[in-house]
Amino acid sequence: MPEPWHSALTHLECARCGIRHDASVPQNLCACGSPLLARYDLERVGATVAPADLAERGQDLWRYRELLPVAGRENAITLGEGMTPILPLARYGHGIGVPGLLVKDEGLLPTGSFKARGAAVGVSRARELGIEAITMPTNGNAGAAWAAYAARAGLRSLVVMPEDAPRITRMESALAGARLYVVDGLIGDAGAIAAQAVADGWFSTATLREPYRVEGKKTMGLEIVEQLGWRAPDVIVYPTGGGVGLIGIHKALEELRALGWLTGPAPRLVVVQAAGCAPLVRAFEAGSSTAPPWPDPRTFAYGVNVASTLGDFLVLDAVRSTGGTAVAVADEDILAAQAACAAAEGLVTCPEGAATLAAVARLRESGWLTGEEEVVVLNTGSGLKYPPPAGSPEPPHLAPGATLPD
Ligand SMILES: *Cc1c(COP(=O)(O)O)cnc(C)c1O
Ligand SMILES: [Zn+2]
Repeated sequence: MPEPWHSALTHLECARCGIRHDASVPQNLCACGSPLLARYDLERVGATVAPADLAERGQDLWRYRELLPVAGRENAITLGEGMTPILPLARYGHGIGVPGLLVKDEGLLPTGSFKARGAAVGVSRARELGIEAITMPTNGNAGAAWAAYAARAGLRSLVVMPEDAPRITRMESALAGARLYVVDGLIGDAGAIAAQAVADGWFSTATLREPYRVEGKKTMGLEIVEQLGWRAPDVIVYPTGGGVGLIGIHKALEELRALGWLTGPAPRLVVVQAAGCAPLVRAFEAGSSTAPPWPDPRTFAYGVNVASTLGDFLVLDAVRSTGGTAVAVADEDILAAQAACAAAEGLVTCPEGAATLAAVARLRESGWLTGEEEVVVLNTGSGLKYPPPAGSPEPPHLAPGATLPD
């Protein structure tokens, strides 16, 4: 007998002005320009399901279906996403003075990044609402993921990415049948071009412009709490571009708290950005509630090369309200952390994931972390998706039959 399926979604709410919007039709932004957030009947969820029931369910993100927007099981498009492992990084953590360091490894997801979570839920809900064609600007991973899920759902996709986006994401998008364009510019330029497709009737699934990508990414927070035995770690460290993942994790923690499934102090949420593109870090340090665009964004951690985001105020609120902080790390520190973690643990993180490791080391040095904490960092993608960084040493070559050097 299939397990029962229901979603407790009731409506959408503007994250800024609080106005209610109808969740039964496609929606983008509120008239005030702010993203919309999905709201659920949490009393109903609490009355129909308990944490222990989840243990019986499939090992994917649809185990949280009551807290997701997809009403019909038949509309849940899946490539097996979710329930990524949380791994101790004891040796690496010890080396930087944070032995309680854990990584949630999102590199194992379909399409090789956590963008699969947002795409699975966003595409599923889009199809459920009758949308047939989606479009987005992307730094690579989102386009690859949405193109893949769109293909599986039978939707058309149109993806625009800057020329610097990792090459493999072009191949992924193209193989999945997306109409793919590469713009000789930055993500903002890609956005302006994707907006033309929206004018032609393609539904915009750009970051935070539709409400359900956050819901997919929210499942990272749900999983962290479930996997740790229905409790939160002391600190969660997240490589932040548009901030969808951090907003989602914060939303997950609030919903779990409202349900009574999570008690105890809230984890402190930490935003990590690259020094070459750190609008949210600068805004955090300036005490500001919004983040003006970063003038000349530059980092090889493409997923966080985002000069401005519609969700700035939500990210900054999540960090401040949990007693967290925001840290910018230089590209060379990201590279060093990536190499050190791979050598110590055998885990090749993506640059964005490595940025969180560099940030943890920095927070330990500054004393913000005492070293006693349990810290979960998000490795948001597989290091295997990225080209070798410039200057990677070439291993010695040997002629066939050569003698092995000492
Ligand atoms: C998109 C992306 C990020 C940033 O994601 P947001 O949730 O939008 O901040 C981080 N890492 C990787 C690998 C990404 O692809
Ligand atoms: Zn509004």
